[in-house]
Amino acid sequence: MRSNKGLLIVLSGPSGCGKGTMVAEILKRGDCAVSVSATTRSPREGEENHVHYHFLTRDEFEQRIAEDGLLEYATYCDNYYGTPKKEVEEMRAAGKHVILEIEVQGAFQIRERCPDAVLVFTVPPSIAELRRRLHKRGTEMDEVIEKRIARAMEELPLAEQYDYIILNDALEDAVSDFGAVLRAETLRPSYTDLDSLRKDGNTL
Ligand code: 5GP
Repeated sequence: MRSNKGLLIVLSGPSGCGKGTMVAEILKRGDCAVSVSATTRSPREGEENHVHYHFLTRDEFEQRIAEDGLLEYATYCDNYYGTPKKEVEEMRAAGKHVILEIEVQGAFQIRERCPDAVLVFTVPPSIAELRRRLHKRGTEMDEVIEKRIARAMEELPLAEQYDYIILNDALEDAVSDFGAVLRAETLRPSYTDLDSLRKDGNTL
């Protein structure tokens, strides 16, 4: 009954608010895939090339832009980040719901280029909690943490332009809310394979 093509879901939210942990849980469903972004930032400890990101030099990244190989891209805290176009299309064509874990500028580019995309913004319970989570993660220096907090303050007011807002306080609840969004989106007429419904003797 559903269309064969997967949904395109953008997941934004301040750095440190738990998007990565949410995505790791969501992937356990089996019907979703996460897009591996390209970036010019250096790998963090434990991050693998082509698994967490495609780590590129600035020249390589700019080459991808020139070739129109990115669905969207943005600069965030002095580095480029972008979504490889071909990989996303292939995963969607294979029926997976593809999650783009990206910041706000990229999210709005996606809305322009892919009007069927679903934009989800996840918010932390408070800025104090966000700061605590960033310190606990321990992957950034204090100065970078403050840059990310400043960026979060700019991004949070844009949440209201998204299709859905999910509070990430208890992880379980946030993941369950995400599941509810997916469920609702796959029940839209635009997503449903109406021809097969009609074939089955319905009156649609
Ligand atoms: P991080 O350096 O913490 O991995 O990511 C920094 C920010 O860049 C996060 O908000 C993350 O969601 C965003 N980001 C990651 N990949 C992309 C991408 O492909 N495009 C855009 N626009 N933002 C991205």
